[in-house]
Amino acid sequence: MALRLPPLPALRDFIHMYRLRAKKILSQNYLMDMNITRKIAKQAKVKENDWVVEIGPGPGGITRAILEAGASRLDVVEIDNRFIPPLQHLAEAAGSRMFIHHEDALRTEIGDIWKNEPNRPSSVDWHSPNLPAMHVIGNLPFNIASPLIIKYLRDMSYQRGIWQYGRVPLTLTFQLEVAKRLCSPIACDTRSRISIMAQYVTEPKMVFQISGSCFVPRPQVDVGVVRFVPRKTPLVKTSFEVLEKLCRQVFHYRQKYVEKGLKTLYPPELENELADELFKKCRVDPTTTSIRLGIEQFADLAEGYNEQCIRHPGLFLYDYTNKQHNLENLSKEPNALPPPVPVFQSSSTETEDNEWSLKNFNIS
Ligand code: SAM
Repeated sequence: MALRLPPLPALRDFIHMYRLRAKKILSQNYLMDMNITRKIAKQAKVKENDWVVEIGPGPGGITRAILEAGASRLDVVEIDNRFIPPLQHLAEAAGSRMFIHHEDALRTEIGDIWKNEPNRPSSVDWHSPNLPAMHVIGNLPFNIASPLIIKYLRDMSYQRGIWQYGRVPLTLTFQLEVAKRLCSPIACDTRSRISIMAQYVTEPKMVFQISGSCFVPRPQVDVGVVRFVPRKTPLVKTSFEVLEKLCRQVFHYRQKYVEKGLKTLYPPELENELADELFKKCRVDPTTTSIRLGIEQFADLAEGYNEQCIRHPGLFLYDYTNKQHNLENLSKEPNALPPPVPVFQSSSTETEDNEWSLKNFNIS
């Protein structure tokens, strides 16, 4: 049963009471319709007694919906001090369930918030089909949502931060185009670097769309709400950074043969040899385009590229736009080798999980 909040001024009145005119510079677009904020909490699957971190609560529309859904603890991270008094008002109404962190979410380690909380819901093994009773939720400015999702995907890949507790689901809003890219299947115009980075470590799903007209003030674009459930086993066995670098270069020339982008990973004297080697080893056609590569092919290419980076110290640091870069100098740098592949407690179901994921998620 949903927990009732004591009577509160309507959201619209809250905005007037606390003089919360949206700041354009912070891309503040508020959700004032509680039907929509409740739908976000419902699609995030917040249940009674769950623990939630909300990023960018602003005047608190989603915050109210999360509290109503029965979260027994809600920590909100808000950068703009103007929202602190109305959030305090909400926290008082919520009893002892809500805690306010006046911080920049890009600099906040959300995994630390509950570190010393003895009553925290139990951690759940990454290979369990169950998810911990915890959530991360946010309707953020578009310019913050993109760097934040990269930070969170990286943290998931290392099972660190809040993901030390298990496969905590994440529900965030994005401008519709970005939401489509995150969830894009193969061979679509929306397929991009972020599709691969999101899909190798999570199963992202656009749970619904919100028309721009539902926000105050109205943004130029519509919005997609995406729920990310971390995969039991990532589909690529390299570090996040190696896959990210490969994807960045491969998607650099989207309309051209994949060979053109891939060669930018290597210094000119090695590009033909190492690119040929990788294409042959991975049985990838160099004349295909990046959007036609499946996750399994990205997995093979990333693992092959990782192996080349180990064989040629400094290669991982190579940046083709920097004319000063040469492998001899780069190999002397302290981080000349790629970050190691994260190793976690092994599970006998690992291969099965991976095969299951590839078969059942039509992204390859
Ligand atoms: N969640 C509210 C809603 O749906 O009505 C507000 C949405 S508004 C688009 C984004 C909110 O995120 C604002 O309250 C803004 O101050 C906050 N915000 C922006 N950048 C932030 C950051 N780096 N860390 C934490 N909060 C941030």
